Amino acid sequence: MTDLTDLGIREIRDGVREGTFSAREVATAFNAAVAGAKPLNAFLVETPDHALAAADAADAARAAGETLKPLAGVPIGMKDLFCTKGVASTAASHILEGFTPQYESTVSQNLWDAGAGMLGKLNMDQFAMGSSNETSAFGNVISPWRRNDGGNAALAPGGSSGGSSAAVAARLCPGATGTDTGGSIRQPAAFTGISGIKPTYGRCSRWGTIAFASSLDQAGPMARDVRDCAIMLEAMSGFDAKDATSLDLPVPRWEQGLNASLAGKRVGIPREYRVDNMPEEIEALWQQGIAWVKDAGAEIVEVSLPHTKYALPAYYIIAPAEASSNLARYDGVRYGQRNLPDGANLQAMYAATRAAGFGEEVKRRILIGTYVLSAGFYDAYFTQASKVRTLIARDFEHAWDKCDVLLTPTAPSAAFALGEKSADPLAMYLNDVFTVPSSLAGLPAMSVPGGLDRAGLPLGLQVIGKALDEQGVLNAALAIEERAGFVARPQAWW
Ligand code: GLN
Repeated sequence: MTDLTDLGIREIRDGVREGTFSAREVATAFNAAVAGAKPLNAFLVETPDHALAAADAADAARAAGETLKPLAGVPIGMKDLFCTKGVASTAASHILEGFTPQYESTVSQNLWDAGAGMLGKLNMDQFAMGSSNETSAFGNVISPWRRNDGGNAALAPGGSSGGSSAAVAARLCPGATGTDTGGSIRQPAAFTGISGIKPTYGRCSRWGTIAFASSLDQAGPMARDVRDCAIMLEAMSGFDAKDATSLDLPVPRWEQGLNASLAGKRVGIPREYRVDNMPEEIEALWQQGIAWVKDAGAEIVEVSLPHTKYALPAYYIIAPAEASSNLARYDGVRYGQRNLPDGANLQAMYAATRAAGFGEEVKRRILIGTYVLSAGFYDAYFTQASKVRTLIARDFEHAWDKCDVLLTPTAPSAAFALGEKSADPLAMYLNDVFTVPSSLAGLPAMSVPGGLDRAGLPLGLQVIGKALDEQGVLNAALAIEERAGFVARPQAWW
């Protein structure tokens, strides 16, 4: 029998329905895989009983002849940014150590309602700030991938959803939740050879998701292929009255709508998606991607998104500004850690708690955010960045006159070594150059594996779509997936 941990979401769902194996066998296999992969540091909390309980419910429903729920018998990993009732939720920060939510986030509740079970809470960059997982207060995740050219340095799994990407790539779970504020689903997916989609802003409720930058934060699935992402996204999405920015629209049947033919579709190639020193393999993969979508029937059109170069500076003003406001709530009074030096007054308690509880990158963002929102600088920075954001959204609007989706590389590099960029925040921020513009515009965007570089590391292609057109994004990604035939996986060393 195949190892059950080799199966994806659709295969598990269908196998449980058909009785090829029980949901309990699946949960047991993944629980064992999680328990055996400690060196990756992908999980902050393991919840084997949660996975088993959901599995038993699925098996009982099947035995009773009931129609099984969409994710019955599928165990998943949950990024630690989602509050899970009764299970520690820390956003990988010391400041939330000891915090056990009394409520369930809407996204996780939607997944449990669909029959999924939880294998555990996944490590991540602290408060989702980072691109390499190195800002976690509980140690970085190590990518399951290794270079094949003798360079044996431990690699970054991408970030901020690096626990999610590592866990899916290492077959510790068939799918995981991620969140994407400026690329945190897509870049880690690209680094680890898996798929991930950030839907249109508002598709997934933000309620119960620990906030980073509220006008950008969006949840989405990370899984082994496009179909699995479609299945999981359907379960995660939906209107929620508890989130004022939730879209009050029905959830499309994305899985049913999958279609790899791009006949009649126009795929735009934005000429600005190039950076200095971009490896030629990434340019070559992009050209290969263009050939693949052409082969699928698409017409290729060149487009220009002239404000692309301002996206990163605008993002690194807007996201920290919102973060500085969102993170004001961690004051030692309401959640998690409290640091109360002898004889301290309230102010001193705030300061001591925040100084001890937040990591360096989080402090950097709070400082930047507070600065750009301060009285003398608000117009020069925050207002200006907001205007740039509008121009970037307008660039995309103009592009949609000419094309249906855009195709770009996901990131300007393959996975880098842990430590390689951590001393230089700007080098780290540059890794988001291709993912940030669509985040600022609230558009759906997906990364799909395209191939390997010379060192045997995965490279991703990104499809960006019109607002609400997740189907168009998934379909173009499927056309690429079918042609890329990406089957590489990391060799287990952990
Ligand atoms: N790497 C980006 C940042 O550090 C994006 C993070 C994210 O999408 N959560 O802000």
